[in-house]
Amino acid sequence: MLGQRKAVIALFPLVTTAARAYITGVSGHNATYDYVIIGGGTAGLTVGARLAADSSLSVAVIEAGGFYEIDNGNASVVPFYAAEGINTTSLQGSNPLVDWQFLTVPQPSLLGQIYHYIRGKCLGGSSARNFLIYQRATVGALQKWADAVDDQSYSWANILPFYQKSAAYTPARADLRLPNATAVNDTGAFLAGAGPLQVSYPNYANPVGTFYPGAFEELGLGALPHGVNTGSLIGYAYSTVTEDPTDETRSSSQTAFLSSAPSLTVYSKTMAQKIVFDGSKTARGVNVKANGVSFTLFANKEVILSAGAFQSPQLLMVSGVGPADVLEQHNIPVVADLPGVGQNLQDNPAVFVGYTSPFVLDAAQLDAAVVPYNTKPHTGQLTSPGSEVIGWDKVSNKAFATSLSKSTVSDLASSFPADWPEVELIANANGKFPSIHR
Ligand SMILES: Cc1cc2nc3c(=O)[nH]c(=O)nc-3n(C[C@H](O)[C@H](O)[C@H](O)COP(=O)(O)OP(=O)(O)OC[C@H]3O[C@@H](n4cnc5c(N)ncnc54)[C@H](O)[C@@H]3O)c2cc1C
Repeated sequence: MLGQRKAVIALFPLVTTAARAYITGVSGHNATYDYVIIGGGTAGLTVGARLAADSSLSVAVIEAGGFYEIDNGNASVVPFYAAEGINTTSLQGSNPLVDWQFLTVPQPSLLGQIYHYIRGKCLGGSSARNFLIYQRATVGALQKWADAVDDQSYSWANILPFYQKSAAYTPARADLRLPNATAVNDTGAFLAGAGPLQVSYPNYANPVGTFYPGAFEELGLGALPHGVNTGSLIGYAYSTVTEDPTDETRSSSQTAFLSSAPSLTVYSKTMAQKIVFDGSKTARGVNVKANGVSFTLFANKEVILSAGAFQSPQLLMVSGVGPADVLEQHNIPVVADLPGVGQNLQDNPAVFVGYTSPFVLDAAQLDAAVVPYNTKPHTGQLTSPGSEVIGWDKVSNKAFATSLSKSTVSDLASSFPADWPEVELIANANGKFPSIHR
């Protein structure tokens, strides 16, 4: 697409900035660090950068992918293209350089459909593949987590300082958005001078989006007066996004945390294959492979596993930690028989409904949109990932819940806290949701 090629010009400074900010691990050679982190995604680069801020520590990150700016260009960098290649029922349009291309087995309860589980494979991980929506968990959701693991570090009050430490907040530019697309100025949820993750609002509001508040009100939802980052979500609001307000590009764990960690050593395009345990079942290192060459990265202090929801348990299992019967079936020597590892995945199904809108750009309009996007103050539809106004609601307490089974209603009521939204209503206005691609 012509528009995409033109906008690439704006990307080169970003790549060089990030490339200067870390140490490249020497591939093919065994090495020892204090901390070895598996997975340079959302969590891995955040933890890596925080640890490496202590100059007395040596920290290495192992990442199977590379730079998404190079491997996926605008589709990962320009917010408007966030849904490119995000096809949930096939690999059509998916880029194997930045996506693991996981396909499920046919799902019996979903008419045998195979699903594509999109997972980022790059420095930045899924924070480089997601829809840029920035919102915090609810107070009750975090309390449920804290209670489940019997560790109050995960309660809202104890997590909030870390949410605040990571995010640099910039209020919406009302002068660049439609007058009736007012975003809450959420300053109270953020700390001045914090960061490095950039949290802001797009320099654009889609006209379609201005009708959504009325639609949400009709559904019985109220406006969230303090926005989406104060621990309560039942309601609706223009959502904050992980977007750099200086150039309206995606802010990921790579652009934010990797760029701020000059002493972090990164092994990119390197596959972690197995965690090495010693005789006392302590993780001592990681067997890795890059360019066909195997080597080991040893850890003086800790191996940190942050390979995402699917591959963290998978790596544990291939390393001998998991249900003994499953490991034995695959001739994997058992280090620890932990039956829960790799089991009980719970996920949120998404249903996409599409309507034709006069505000979806045609090819000529998309091409024209490149000019304001590439020109300061970086405006127009390309600045928006499309998911602008978002609503959260309960369904189990609604009249239509009678169409749900009794066990569903009772499971929802008994398993989740009162402030836990059961549905998220994402009103995407730029015509780039997966249903459009199918
Ligand atoms: C399509 C999509 C849209 C989303 N939209 C949003 C959104 O708008 N807002 C939001 O808050 N959340 C969103 N999410 C969820 C959010 O992005 C993820 O929950 C979050 O990024 C997960 O972080 P993580 O660190 O656990 O994993 P990841 O960020 O996925 O990081 C895991 C990293 O480990 C690497 N890795 C895995 N195995 C190995 C191995 N063996 N060797 C080396 N490296 C390995 C991967 O390549 C990856 O870089 C979305 C997710 C997807 C997929």
